[in-house]
Amino acid sequence: SEDTRVTWDKAPCRFCGTGCSVLVGTKNGQVVATQGDPESPVNRGLNCIKGYFLSKVMYGEDRLTRPLLRMKDGKFDKNGEFTPISWDQAFDIMAEKWKASLKAKGPTSVGMFGSGQWTVYEGYAASKLHKAGFRTNNIDPNARHCMASAVGGFMRAFGIDEPMGCYDDMEAADAFVLWGSNMAEMHPILWTRITDRRLSAPHVKVHVLSTFEHRSFELADNGMVFTPQSDLAILNYIAHYIIENDKVNWDFVNKHTHFKRGTTDIGYGLRPEHPLQKKAKNPDSGAVSDMTFDEYREFLKDYNLESVAKLSGVPEKNLIALAETYADPKTKVTSFWTMGFNQHTRGVWANNSVYNIHLLTGKISQPGNSPFSLTGQPSACGTAREVGTFSHRLPADMVVTNPKHRATAEKIWKLPHATIPPKPGYHAVLQNRMLKDGKLNCYWVMCNNNMQAAPNLNEEGLPGYRNPDNFIVVSDPYPTVTAQAADLILPTAMWVEKAGAYGNAERRTQLWHQQVSAPGDAKSDLWQLLEFSKRFQIEDVWPEELVMKMPEYRGKSLYEVLYRNGQIDKYPIEEVNTELNDEAKHFGFYIQKGLFEEYAEFGRGHGHDLAPFERYHSERGLRWPVVDGKETLWRFREGSDPYVKKGKGFEFYGKPDGKAWIIATPYEAPPEVPDAEYDLWLSTGRVLEHWHSGTMTRRVPELYRAFPDAVIYIHPQDAQDRGLKRGDEVLVSSRRGELKSRIETRGRNRPPKGLVFMPWFDAKQLTNKLTLDATDPLSKETDFKKCAVKISKA
Ligand code: SF4
Repeated sequence: SEDTRVTWDKAPCRFCGTGCSVLVGTKNGQVVATQGDPESPVNRGLNCIKGYFLSKVMYGEDRLTRPLLRMKDGKFDKNGEFTPISWDQAFDIMAEKWKASLKAKGPTSVGMFGSGQWTVYEGYAASKLHKAGFRTNNIDPNARHCMASAVGGFMRAFGIDEPMGCYDDMEAADAFVLWGSNMAEMHPILWTRITDRRLSAPHVKVHVLSTFEHRSFELADNGMVFTPQSDLAILNYIAHYIIENDKVNWDFVNKHTHFKRGTTDIGYGLRPEHPLQKKAKNPDSGAVSDMTFDEYREFLKDYNLESVAKLSGVPEKNLIALAETYADPKTKVTSFWTMGFNQHTRGVWANNSVYNIHLLTGKISQPGNSPFSLTGQPSACGTAREVGTFSHRLPADMVVTNPKHRATAEKIWKLPHATIPPKPGYHAVLQNRMLKDGKLNCYWVMCNNNMQAAPNLNEEGLPGYRNPDNFIVVSDPYPTVTAQAADLILPTAMWVEKAGAYGNAERRTQLWHQQVSAPGDAKSDLWQLLEFSKRFQIEDVWPEELVMKMPEYRGKSLYEVLYRNGQIDKYPIEEVNTELNDEAKHFGFYIQKGLFEEYAEFGRGHGHDLAPFERYHSERGLRWPVVDGKETLWRFREGSDPYVKKGKGFEFYGKPDGKAWIIATPYEAPPEVPDAEYDLWLSTGRVLEHWHSGTMTRRVPELYRAFPDAVIYIHPQDAQDRGLKRGDEVLVSSRRGELKSRIETRGRNRPPKGLVFMPWFDAKQLTNKLTLDATDPLSKETDFKKCAVKISKA
């Protein structure tokens, strides 16, 4: 008889980097309900609208349940029709293509594009498969599009990644500054905490900066719309104000910081003879050099009130109010930012410039005083950053270019010396270019929708997928734009259809059990990676001189060498504390625990300590470093962070001498600006109701109806000047492509004259046909926030 009981278990939300905890209700093998977890310290029983409809994201009508290969006359054909095949047939053709490519062109001809939505286990297994197995660093996560600039900023200023603060800052701050972040829609649960603080403590003030007005402006005491790219100048103005008004916290600065030039020659910013910019020499090297305080002060002089107000378009009184908030020693300030900073041709500089302000005033690592970069994806921190799935990284902040780091990874992974290649692989944007140029030929995409998300799709995206020399595999639960451009589609298990672990924006690691089975033949990305690794003998992928160094690996499969090395497979299946763990059953050992504990070895004792695996099943997550069983709320401060030595006060231990860097970087003009023909700025982004490319949320009827199709937000005067009215269908074009949309002159987004905003969730309106693929030279993150377009009646 049918069991009518609903069973409840915990999991983190599937969507944003806030990392809300939810309770998942299952009945008869299906998720039937979710609710905000009242025991969660993150969301305290609340969810946003996406979180409330989590139970429906897995049950879209077109869920993929079989591998599908493009075939004609019973054979693979790049122009054939998608035809159901078995997993064995799928792995057969993949192995055939990968082996042929490795033999003909070597390891750089294969690669993977992964995700900040991968579980920790999946990202770790994928990174190991590529860096140790195939010996290629051509693996990158879609987090490259999201917060690579934040990583660059942290590593430069502090030598260690991720925020020093935590969400508890929100109940302690006297002022919040949002830099290019619409938290009201993108991190709505955190916004409820800020709103609560603002409304319950009358002295609290909220400053919001953006290139257009959005919902977060509704709570702003000081809303500022600035000319695109001029945030770099505003940040330097605040540093200038602090110094010229004698508000530097000298005790902190002298003990805990160094001044550095952020470019080999920083130029002099906004000199009167060159009102916009005197270009820095060699700004892209990432090199820094020592600088004195007096030189820094001199550099900042050009960023005075008058010049910055003129450049940014922000009235002087608003700039002064903002600068005074940071300068006042009594005001505790938390700065938040996301894509407005990170998706920027100078994203790393923007990140560093906000740290400069917090370091100059000593407003850091204390409750309420926090420079805080938020993440977009549920495990951008846990998987993309901490596991190190970037093309230049290894776990726990190590990089492939450092011989000591490679040696550490090779020791933990039981590999011969010189297995991991020393050169960074192709990053996200370069992967598309290399596919187009036929230099990257076998490509596996997991857990993302890059043919909707990547910039400049017409010229730099789709051509690589259809290049006849390439074989493209896409693993996804749904037939996304990316899947439809592939040669082979693999059906993927989602969220609680597998066991998982995510790490959120405040360093909180959360684990969950598998709670239902995936439909049909759908399998997790982890299962797919491990099964594929069985198809390769070590001799297929390593040169003989490497195999000779480890003769015990001769004749073994990659699966045996990488995942059954006595370290990962030492946890017996009896330890699995749930009936439903399809992977553990399939592989015969507790695979998730084995991967987690091996991965944790990288960070323990190095400032990234994770608790033992089982502990996370009884907690609503823990913030690393977890030392002696205790999580860490504020890093780098004595008494709060166990890594800070007694008597130090503060210690930025990612740097050899424990001192953080204040890095001077100038304003630089954007790569494309509106002109007579393409006369409007375009900024792109998200909306509350839809998760990124809308693959999951557009399949939830309630969310679809709430915001069915993308629109382009425009100032009413700009519409009128073009003979347009609200709801008109328009042609939007840039130098790279065009699309049709409808214009919206009212509502949640209110651009200034000269700028339009378009969300990119709608697969029928590929916003990224318009965008420019200009990337930050340091982080390789694309600027999706500014390019030039024109609009006319369709
Ligand atoms: Fe999920 Fe983010 Fe909404 Fe929380 S705020 S319920 S994590 S989408």
